[in-house]
Amino acid sequence: MNSFTDSNDFYRSVFNNLSIGIYMMDLSGKIISANPYMCKILEFSEKELQMKTCFNLTHPDDLETTQNNLNRLLEGNLENISFSKRFLRKNGDHFWTSVGVFLNRNSENTPQFFISHIKDISREKELESQLRHAQKTEAVATLAGGIAHDFNNILSSILGNAEFAVRHELKDDAPGAYSVRQIIKAAKRASFLVKQILTFSRRRKPELAQISVNPIVKEITKLLKKTLPANIEIRLSLKNQSDILMADPVNVHQILMNLCTNAAEAMQEKGGKLEILLENTDQNDIDPLNMPQGPSSKFLKIIVRDDGIGMPPEIRERIFEPYFTTKSMKKGTGLGLPVVYGIVEDLKGAVDVESKQGEGACFTVILPLFERKQEPPAPTVTNRNAGPGARILFVDDDEQIIEFMIRSMETMGYQVTAKADSVGAFACFKQDPTQFDIVISDMNMNGYTGDVLARKILEIRPDIPVIICTGYDELLAEEQAEKIGIRDIVMKPFMVDQLDEKIRQILTIDTQSELKTPGQTNTP
Ligand code: ADP
Ligand code: MG
Repeated sequence: MNSFTDSNDFYRSVFNNLSIGIYMMDLSGKIISANPYMCKILEFSEKELQMKTCFNLTHPDDLETTQNNLNRLLEGNLENISFSKRFLRKNGDHFWTSVGVFLNRNSENTPQFFISHIKDISREKELESQLRHAQKTEAVATLAGGIAHDFNNILSSILGNAEFAVRHELKDDAPGAYSVRQIIKAAKRASFLVKQILTFSRRRKPELAQISVNPIVKEITKLLKKTLPANIEIRLSLKNQSDILMADPVNVHQILMNLCTNAAEAMQEKGGKLEILLENTDQNDIDPLNMPQGPSSKFLKIIVRDDGIGMPPEIRERIFEPYFTTKSMKKGTGLGLPVVYGIVEDLKGAVDVESKQGEGACFTVILPLFERKQEPPAPTVTNRNAGPGARILFVDDDEQIIEFMIRSMETMGYQVTAKADSVGAFACFKQDPTQFDIVISDMNMNGYTGDVLARKILEIRPDIPVIICTGYDELLAEEQAEKIGIRDIVMKPFMVDQLDEKIRQILTIDTQSELKTPGQTNTP
């Protein structure tokens, strides 16, 4: 070892062979020498580097930091300094590095030259930004989710009352009928928006089912053809043989609609071609970081490509941030892509984008395909009043919701007993368990929560169907609901129509055993 170091071979070997950039600068920052690794990562020869200063190789935004740090060394306060900065490659690209600089002084303590080493930390920076993105999403989600909860209840009441008025109280041409229909329209849009917020904040519980994606894509394409301006040409190519996913069809709709709407908006001015391409792949060729974790080895690849305005890197980096938009207040919500991102992540897939300013954009979504399993067993038979005429026990601690439920369900022909307190509701049920055909209960209540009430009721009468209505923050896990014996979960704000359909479905199924299992979703 001694002779090795004495001969300087050791130092030369370190300089030449380590995977770390090492270089020497004079006091003005001019490069005196650089090791082979430094030349390699910057893509310059040593000769070329010797014609540059370290400032020529620094990203403009990091020039000041670099200068300040060298000054601190020269002022004599420090011997060594470390900091992060962006270096520029020969082709102008930048990358993040961690830099250490040492100032060499002679025996009289006069500064001689700088020795510096750099390490490429772009990967760490990327992970850091992903983490920050995740934390920001989480924070916004919590906030938005909280507002959406209260908003949902208010919407239920607005929609319920307005629909009731249009259906039962106002003739088509009555004064005010038009306005009320407009209220319904607006409330439905608000409800869609709340669903988007809840989806991206992962508060809306997806209703998972085996679904076939191709028909959904065809339907969306048809819809787009009708609604997009004529200067946008739509091309659909379904090259995939398998298209079965275990997913919520609403979510698949959201992915495609959000990507296609963005594509169309990017081509709004000049028109162009919107391509939707589906194919199968047995590899996730996106980022190994986002590699799907599930057991699937087969994937569905959905590509949405446009030749619109495209994006520069500084926009591309931010598009998945909640509320990030480059569109006007009226047009953009900045929720489209965060929603896509959230859904894809929940489905253990991956999403990626390629785009350059002025050269269009190409979004790729990869989702694991579902491997077919056995059908669930058929339900047991019991006799009940099916459909209207049925006797409902309705439990909700919101008086307004109770009021419109009674009005609207009774108008539809149901017999409704409504209770605002769950303990009282249970007492009433216990008195005569056969007086009801179905129980519909809110989840989040004082006294017994919906799941507890359901359990108590089902202990007495295991065959009675119980439907639970939930808002965002009172999620009832599907497995848990199934274990208790709850028949269905309805997300708020629910519409009376929707509830009517569910009730009919459940009660009809129970009286005609040969029909399909409740909760089984049809392919749209
Ligand atoms: P919004 O569409 O409401 O702005 P999104 O989350 O859907 O919100 O998109 C965020 C931003 O990403 C858009 O404002 C736009 O700048 C950019 N973007 C998304 N898709 C495209 C595309 N196909 N072409 C160009 N830019 C896009
Ligand atoms: Mg959008």
